[in-house]
Amino acid sequence: MSSTSFEGADDVVLPFAVEPLDVRGRVVRLGASIDTILTRHAYPDAVARVLGEAAALTVLLGSSLKFEGRFQLQTKSDGPIEMIVVDYDAPDRIRGTARFDREKVEALGHGAVKTSDLLGSGLLAMTIDPGSDRSRYQGVVALEGQGFEEAAHQYFRQSEQIPTRVRLAVAEQFEGGRRAYRAGGLLIQFLPTSPDRMRQGDLAPGDIPEGHPSNDLMPPAEDDAWVEAKLLVETTEDHELIDPAVSSERLLYRLFHERGVRVFEAQAIHEECRCSTKRIMNMMRRFSPEDRRDMVGDNGRIGITCEFCSRVYDLDPADVEAELAQPEPR
Ligand SMILES: [Zn+2]
Repeated sequence: MSSTSFEGADDVVLPFAVEPLDVRGRVVRLGASIDTILTRHAYPDAVARVLGEAAALTVLLGSSLKFEGRFQLQTKSDGPIEMIVVDYDAPDRIRGTARFDREKVEALGHGAVKTSDLLGSGLLAMTIDPGSDRSRYQGVVALEGQGFEEAAHQYFRQSEQIPTRVRLAVAEQFEGGRRAYRAGGLLIQFLPTSPDRMRQGDLAPGDIPEGHPSNDLMPPAEDDAWVEAKLLVETTEDHELIDPAVSSERLLYRLFHERGVRVFEAQAIHEECRCSTKRIMNMMRRFSPEDRRDMVGDNGRIGITCEFCSRVYDLDPADVEAELAQPEPR
């Protein structure tokens, strides 16, 4: 097993392969990046944990895409958490936000709450936006009482016919005299190359086709290699995914050392919003002049707070109208 300069580091996603099992995957560990996102908004703990899981899943999925675009994970559901949005801007930026009903969240109490209880029923959408003029692709899974792990399994089973297992974990730990959130995740996919074991079709990861009908294309009997890999991943404990003392490399070694695991170049991740005055102006353009007048506050200004990073844009309505009178930039 080769080592990298990211050994033991946080905010890193590490791709790997277990070639004897025809398995490829990624491990992510989020430290400062996820703590910044979750503590900035002072989310209730239960909300923070679910958004942390969503962020770990977003990095696992988004980091596999080989373009300079964006991967977005979004939920819309009827539970205490009404909406989650996490953006992964290739190659290394994440941001996230959650909208929730505080009373409903508090009504769940302070014990351990399942992710599915916070999400309720609705939709999980994953959008790939390759940027420039290329078209967007969106895959959707119904949320109906399952968490993010199971929803991801369903997505890959239904849309891509790639056997997939995901583990996600979030925790608060004491670091440097204060509590800090950490998140971790592990994803594996079964991608056999030899034709006789190619029971899943010929789809490659990152090559996202149009959604297929959800007919059951899974093989009648699962391949032994996949069963072995799946069991190893399913038995991974939460603490193994988030413990700062267990590096991604060590976790992979623990799981797969008997088979031999190869790691590839790690990718550092950081929290960074992409909001800007220019983007705010583009948003303002979509409102009617009357709607824009309604946005003016008692102080005579238009105040807009970014839902992701909480940055406040304080705009002069006259400046806004003057700017929007210019032709729309291409
Ligand atoms: Zn922002």
